[in-house]
Amino acid sequence: MPPESARWRRLTSVFAEVVESAGYGQLIPPLLEDLGVFTRIGDATDVVTKEMYDFVDKGDRRVALRPEVTASVCRSFAQHRPKLPWKVFYSGPNFRYEKPQRGRYRQFDQVGIEVLGVDDAFLDVEVIALAWEFYRRLGLKQVKLIVNSLGEPDDRAQYVDALREHFEAAGSALTEQSRATLQRNPLRVLDSKRDPDQSFIASAPLIANFLSPEATEHFAAVQAGLRELDIPFEVEPKLVRGLDYYRRTIFEFQGGTLDSAQNALGGGGRYDGLVEALGGPATPGVGFALGVDRTLIACDDEGVFAAPVKAIDVFVVDVTGGLNAVAVTAELRRAGLVADRGYDNRSMKAQMKLANRSGAQFAVIIGGDEADAGTAIVKPLRTQDDQVVIARSTLVAHLLDNIHSEESDLP
Ligand code: AMP
Repeated sequence: MPPESARWRRLTSVFAEVVESAGYGQLIPPLLEDLGVFTRIGDATDVVTKEMYDFVDKGDRRVALRPEVTASVCRSFAQHRPKLPWKVFYSGPNFRYEKPQRGRYRQFDQVGIEVLGVDDAFLDVEVIALAWEFYRRLGLKQVKLIVNSLGEPDDRAQYVDALREHFEAAGSALTEQSRATLQRNPLRVLDSKRDPDQSFIASAPLIANFLSPEATEHFAAVQAGLRELDIPFEVEPKLVRGLDYYRRTIFEFQGGTLDSAQNALGGGGRYDGLVEALGGPATPGVGFALGVDRTLIACDDEGVFAAPVKAIDVFVVDVTGGLNAVAVTAELRRAGLVADRGYDNRSMKAQMKLANRSGAQFAVIIGGDEADAGTAIVKPLRTQDDQVVIARSTLVAHLLDNIHSEESDLP
């Protein structure tokens, strides 16, 4: 609702400015995709197995409201084969059937970017740095960046085996939910926030001991790039991302003020095999998705990025029937002023009350005398200055000279 919606839109445009400065173009993928777009890439994740809004449409197609956007981006790439590298950004809603709570909704918005076709570690740095710059422009100061490397697919496979062995040895001391997760995706057990699991997570093997020389080199380059840009980060060896297609760099941004279950403001990483799974050629990718709802909660908590206030400049009071106000408001709006008016030909008193309540700087008043003389009264509403009578032909110029823009300044 307004005024929050204006803040929402402003956030999206700050994001667009940041990523367009790095050559990203906007992709507007559909909200509805063939179910296979998601099941082909993530049948081991809760997002796909449990939380998807999927249904059969009137043409007997299995479709789903998108739970995330990366899969749509890769589907789009596989279908249209744009030139490489392909740098795109997006914004819009996703749908997940989760248990709603503060910072966790069934419809939530994300902004994000994906780059397809480049393996360079310094692209990973660019991607992370763009998210960092976005948070900086919002004014957020408490965002924490954590990074990790999941290695090459072989490194990762060996690590997953080691994790499976480690957690299986814990037997029934592990929570039932984690034992179920272990069957599907051992990496995800590391995500558990449940107390009984914590000691087993603390003693779990570390991915760092499984990285190949190539993966180690790539990760070192990413860290060197982040240092070059003075972006503070922590290597978190237990950070994982659930989908099987992630490899090498992964990262997450955490808010300083939210509960730990909802403190992930956004995350991303490098992936392989996604475009292939969706029918395209083998193509490396890297990107992130940032949660808009949670980012705005973090802004509230830090007291930054307030909703912009676009106040009314002029309120037009017409007591001659209303047709004069039709013309005057149109003229003022065309000149770039924000103009509102009274309706229903109400009394002078009633319309002046509305004018005062509107917060406008000036009322333009047209009564019978003014209508006959081709003039209007301009009455300052926030100062004690006298009202003046102005010819209709110079009304716009007069107001433009006297009104100062009031849109709130944002960082
Ligand atoms: P993911 O696609 O799961 O990596 O999520 C990326 C970001 O989207 C998270 O860090 C959150 O900020 C946001 N997000 C994910 N799920 C939800 C949800 N159900 N409600 C609100 N924000 C969400």
